[in-house]
Amino acid sequence: MNRKTWRDRDLAVLWHPCTQMQEHLDGAPLITIRRGQGVWLEDYEGRRYLDAVSSWWTNLFGHAEPRIAAAIASQAQQLEQVILAGFSHVPAIELAEQLLALAPSGLSKVFFADNGSAAVEVALKMSYHAHLNRGDTQRTRFIALQNSYHGETLGALAVTDIPLYRRTYAPLMMQPGFVPSPDAWLAEPGESAEDRAERAAQALAEVLQRQGEQTAALIIEPLVQCAAGMRMHSPLYLRRARELCDRHGVHLIADEIAVGFGRTGSLFACEQAGISPDLMCVSKGITGGFLPLAATLATEAIYQAFLSDRRDRAFLHSHSYTGNPLACAAALASLQIFRDQDVLGANRQRAAALARAAAPMAELPKVGEVRQRGMIVAFELVADRANKTPLPTVGRYGQQIYRAGLERGVLLRPLGDVIYWMPPYCISEDEIGHLGKVTQDALRVAFSA
Ligand SMILES: *Cc1c(COP(=O)(O)O)cnc(C)c1O
Repeated sequence: MNRKTWRDRDLAVLWHPCTQMQEHLDGAPLITIRRGQGVWLEDYEGRRYLDAVSSWWTNLFGHAEPRIAAAIASQAQQLEQVILAGFSHVPAIELAEQLLALAPSGLSKVFFADNGSAAVEVALKMSYHAHLNRGDTQRTRFIALQNSYHGETLGALAVTDIPLYRRTYAPLMMQPGFVPSPDAWLAEPGESAEDRAERAAQALAEVLQRQGEQTAALIIEPLVQCAAGMRMHSPLYLRRARELCDRHGVHLIADEIAVGFGRTGSLFACEQAGISPDLMCVSKGITGGFLPLAATLATEAIYQAFLSDRRDRAFLHSHSYTGNPLACAAALASLQIFRDQDVLGANRQRAAALARAAAPMAELPKVGEVRQRGMIVAFELVADRANKTPLPTVGRYGQQIYRAGLERGVLLRPLGDVIYWMPPYCISEDEIGHLGKVTQDALRVAFSA
């Protein structure tokens, strides 16, 4: 069947995520993928696309990775799903053991969910409820960073500060305190990333000084605010945030949903600051990008606060597919790959190759900055580099680059006017070279049009 047919059938029945469907009805590209292998996606006409965004930041070791595929197939013949209340299964037990062994110290219990937003909901509810169970009824507020992104359900969206996603639903949601982001791109002229982090920490200190006793938790995306446009900050901020939270009895929630599992160079981003959060959310890469799964890791102190002979002091939260055995088997296979191969070491080589491929873009007039943390590289597009003036009509150039990329066989889905690479870890040197060349061409096309 040809692509036109699939497109028509799709648009007759599907409502796509995070999409103004009118754009497709007006002719925006809609590509139906038949198969994936390594970094490549292939459509029904045999056209191939290099998946530079790891299929929304989920994929680690390439599409249809055979070891993970085999682990899922084998688990499916054994046990596909079982209720996780009153019952358990070995993949969930082993995965929890391994996650805790790998996570920053101090985390001792794993609560499973099935998507990132749900893991954030779990963390928010757990934090509030743990304080409550200890008799601290005042702590009903959360603090999040400006430009944060924590998901789409009402609680996770409430602690999200991206107006395009949040503003419409604002009347429905709790109102957290948004504090200045340590984002180094927002540094004043002459200010270093560390200066910016220190200034943001000062602002957090002032808010906690006033509202510390009403605050349940501070939620942070450690090192990279991905949805905000791969905005990066100094680990210094995480250390200062940890100290300030401790001083005020506030939980620190690390949302590692996008940055976990090696994306920033360490297995978890928090490691680069040498801190441990009270609650840590993981999802996206956890199954190597095969199946939906999420986990919220908690400290022993938080867990203990729920132990009681009263039912209403328990954490009465559940999702139907909590800890699904197939997803746990995929996650175990993915962690086995981390053990079998020196993934983080190999990624250091790949990150250096990405840096080399990205370097020529820094010379282009509309590229305000090329920034990188491990396996994430971002190109901030601006009207004027010297004073970081944003482009007029936000997102227009991003869209043009997206289309130019697709025409050249690379999936470069922009975040507004930020173009980024977040490829699967199996990307080869040649593929990195190709990615660099196509990105450069796409940038030139967009800005000469
Ligand atoms: C993607 C993401 C989420 C939400 O995860 P979903 O599985 O899409 O619900 C939350 N936090 C961060 C930092 C994310 O990148």
